[in-house]
Amino acid sequence: MTQTFDTDLLIDGRFEAGAEPGEPVLNPRTGALILELAEASSDQVARAVAAARRAFDGWSRTTPAERSAALHRIANRIETEAEGFAALEALNCGKPINAATNDEMPAIVDCFRFFAGAVRCQQGTVAGEYLAGHTSMIRRDPIGVVASIAPWNYPLMMMAWKLAPAIGGGNTVVFKPSEQTPLTALKLARILAEELPPGVVNVLPGRGQTVGNELIHHPGVDMISLTGDVATGRKMLDAAAKTVKRTHLELGGKAPVVVFDDADVAEVVEGLRAFGYYNAGQDCTAACRVYAGRKVYDTLVAELSAAASSIVLGAEDDTTNEIGPLISLRQRDRVASFVERAREQPHVEITAGGEAMGSGGFFYRPTVVAGARQTDEIVRREVFGPVVSVTPFSDVEEALTWANDSDYGLASSVWTKDVGRGMAAAARLRYGCTWVNTHFMLVSEMPHGGLKQSGYGKDLSAYALEDYTVVRHVMVKHG
Ligand code: NAD
Repeated sequence: MTQTFDTDLLIDGRFEAGAEPGEPVLNPRTGALILELAEASSDQVARAVAAARRAFDGWSRTTPAERSAALHRIANRIETEAEGFAALEALNCGKPINAATNDEMPAIVDCFRFFAGAVRCQQGTVAGEYLAGHTSMIRRDPIGVVASIAPWNYPLMMMAWKLAPAIGGGNTVVFKPSEQTPLTALKLARILAEELPPGVVNVLPGRGQTVGNELIHHPGVDMISLTGDVATGRKMLDAAAKTVKRTHLELGGKAPVVVFDDADVAEVVEGLRAFGYYNAGQDCTAACRVYAGRKVYDTLVAELSAAASSIVLGAEDDTTNEIGPLISLRQRDRVASFVERAREQPHVEITAGGEAMGSGGFFYRPTVVAGARQTDEIVRREVFGPVVSVTPFSDVEEALTWANDSDYGLASSVWTKDVGRGMAAAARLRYGCTWVNTHFMLVSEMPHGGLKQSGYGKDLSAYALEDYTVVRHVMVKHG
């Protein structure tokens, strides 16, 4: 039986084919072509932005209760169709079906439900008479049309993180999925068209340098929201400067994992096995840069190497797979070249993995790079693959200095049995999130976002709703 896919663009509540030639969409497990997807033309981009502008007038004046109800309906529809969404995400990204079904789908549904609640209970300064005879009040209003641009590592989840606070806050959106992973966005577009007024969300597949570039330069766009690479974020800032658009940037990461000598090594290894390699390491919070106290270093390297080698991937029976392949051949080659350059360092030992596997797909074996030094490329640059480096440290100062010595500032973790030491380290780490004795755990109620070159937009939590709205002052002179 031939599988059918949603391939049409959503503009102003109606579906139409992309007017530009097709881009190949591949199955990363096999390398086979899934389909060629026509991308949006300049005219289609312009019509989508115009539709979002028209829709803004009505949508921005709906009550929080009305927007909340829409978000609940979208959540319910995704939940009902979760199996189909998970299968599509697994096909397009190579994710193990269990990860897509059990980890991602519930989190996506919860994200819409969280913002459905949050939009009805926003907080702020109380209205009052701050100037005698005048009452001041704060309004939190939408920003306008948001150009929302997503990456390939969690396509539907990033769409949820971006759409729910944006439309919950009363904005309208033109959404562009990654050209590599557009399929779940186009399926969700069918639901959005039924649950929202025309033009509130428009969905345009296409490449960054074409559709993305036109969107971010469009004068009708008020805000750019990107989850992507730091280099792409800089392009957004350049584009935004021209018409002073707001920006919401969630960029890369290189999460340090500080393991003190008193940590429970078995727990650390279990955590690294799970959180260093999840989604084949294609995660901006991946636990990929380990600093280990000298007393635990040897045991940690030995046990982590054994644990990494035990991760199941590439099995015929997908229900047994723990991680999938990388998204593309290009990404696998990139990861492999990082490991090869690390291997050339005389002080480095590759104690697990260090090679591609299989013939058709883009698989790379879970890898441990032991003995890496702070100045090594493998410690400094984001690999975005199943590669964890381990570096020994001598004292707390050295560990925290190295952990903070990074252009990135998204996520970090500290492992110790001493609560005070954990708290003290958490206070000093310059990262948007610090976990103590765990890593990677996200909840809809808490913000996710970075410092430094990891960007400054917050996803999830009431803070995301703040990012997608603007504070306004209204003052009324008494009679
Ligand atoms: P990318 O920057 O190449 O692409 C992201 C999106 O931007 C895609 O939709 C792409 O088409 C678009 N784009 C690219 N060039 C553009 C341009 N000139 N104009 C407009 N749009 C453009 O990133 P990627 O390779 O898809 O994703 C991986 C990166 O995303 C990694 O660096 C990763 O760390 C980061 N990421 C960050 C977070 C976070 O929350 N901070 C989450 C996931 C991924």
